[in-house]
Amino acid sequence: MDAETEAAETEAAQLYICTSCGFIYDPAEGDPDGGVPPGTEFTDIPDDWFCPVCGARKADFEPYEE
Ligand SMILES: [Zn+2]
Repeated sequence: MDAETEAAETEAAQLYICTSCGFIYDPAEGDPDGGVPPGTEFTDIPDDWFCPVCGARKADFEPYEE
């Protein structure tokens, strides 16, 4: 019964990859050093955030499909 709920939560946690360096943003980990607490969806990150590895803009990220 709880399986459906867990599946929905997993689906909501969309990973994003930096098209410049390949860094993958995981909402479960966030980017504490960049001021983004764990649990923050990529779409909720401020637009002035940038890749912690190469400094690319948020716009340079795209949804990552495993
Ligand atoms: Zn990057």
